[in-house]
Amino acid sequence: EKFIVVGAGILGASTAYHLAKTGADVTVIDRKDIGQATDAAAGIVCPWISQRRNQAWYRLAKGGARFYPGLIQELKNDGESNTGYSRVGAISIHTDSKKLAEMEKRARKRREDAPEIGEIHLLSQTETKALFPLIADGYSSVYVGGAARVDGRAIRDALLRSAERYGANIVNGDAELLLNGTNVIGTKVNNETYFADTVIVTAGAWGSQLLKPLGVNFQVDFQKGQILHMELQGMATDQWPVVMPPGNQYIVPFQDGKIVAGATHEKNTGFDLRVTAGSMQDILAQSLQFAPGLSSATIVEARVGFRPFTADFLPVIGPLPGFGGVLVANGLGASGLTMGPYLGSLMAKLVLKEKIDLDLAPYAISGALD
Ligand code: FAD
Repeated sequence: EKFIVVGAGILGASTAYHLAKTGADVTVIDRKDIGQATDAAAGIVCPWISQRRNQAWYRLAKGGARFYPGLIQELKNDGESNTGYSRVGAISIHTDSKKLAEMEKRARKRREDAPEIGEIHLLSQTETKALFPLIADGYSSVYVGGAARVDGRAIRDALLRSAERYGANIVNGDAELLLNGTNVIGTKVNNETYFADTVIVTAGAWGSQLLKPLGVNFQVDFQKGQILHMELQGMATDQWPVVMPPGNQYIVPFQDGKIVAGATHEKNTGFDLRVTAGSMQDILAQSLQFAPGLSSATIVEARVGFRPFTADFLPVIGPLPGFGGVLVANGLGASGLTMGPYLGSLMAKLVLKEKIDLDLAPYAISGALD
């Protein structure tokens, strides 16, 4: 059986890896759009203290976080040492001790069926500062030991390199779907035709464009995110935790003084790749408010990515109704680095008709159609 995966962000890369690892015949086609969400994202894996109440969303996010350590070990066994993932923990900071106590309680409750949350501690101002020295005065925190950071580019590349080692064929180009009646039979790329028994479409923010010629109105919209990379020369930031302040911005330390701060959530921008003054002001104002120690950091670069969303902010995965030979997954939103590797592994099982331990009904593609 032959498979084609269209779109190699985190979702397509994971699907291709898990398929190729079983010995399946896989071709990956990716256009490398600037604005690929995975390419811009960096990267918190810490879904447990979110206040979002949607259970179907939480199941995927929780499953995604739980899935990572095993995957990283597998990739290591495949020879990949640079996966961009590190379980450094996170601190959720606040000045209001009542809010922190509630957060701690929520995390402890959630740990009952998610032991991977790891250690949970309320940290004093001094303890918080010891973990993250740049922080402003007055902040205490809840520490969550199982939280991790991940570099979207690094994990995507590790998955794709490993897939290739297992025999996957990776093609750079713009794919169109080929139809025979209502069956998708392959893709056309750079004037070449690739046939397959099953085509898997993981095209992120561009997914609806790809399905349009089929007469399908696939309702995946996107939010633009701008994110800023800074550097603190000579600082040993390797073990610093992810910092989650009140609001929806965050500060993610990486190795060798690299600090990533962001990100914006911008609606109705279209595919606008510009880095804008207002967004940079917003990111800098917030990150310097919480971490004034960043004021001497070097500005390295800003990245822009488009997070794909469905109308109810729930990812979708499954066969495309009304058509044969085609499956779709999309809508990973603001937590796609967390869910993507797991969801890709489920997609591989789905197309190989293997047993899946999760009820996928809430994520049916029909949820993103008219
Ligand atoms: P994408 O990564 O966008 O990949 C889609 C790919 O499909 C692209 O490469 C595109 O070129 C290709 N494609 C599309 N159409 C075609 C075609 N016709 N032919 C060939 N190729 C095609 N998530 C977290 O969990 N934690 C975070 O902290 C986090 N931070 C983020 C910060 C920012 C700034 C952004 C933008 C996102 C963040 N996310 C985070 C969300 C996460 O990055 C996304 O949900 C996830 O990367 C989506 O992955 P994807 O594979 O579905 O899409």
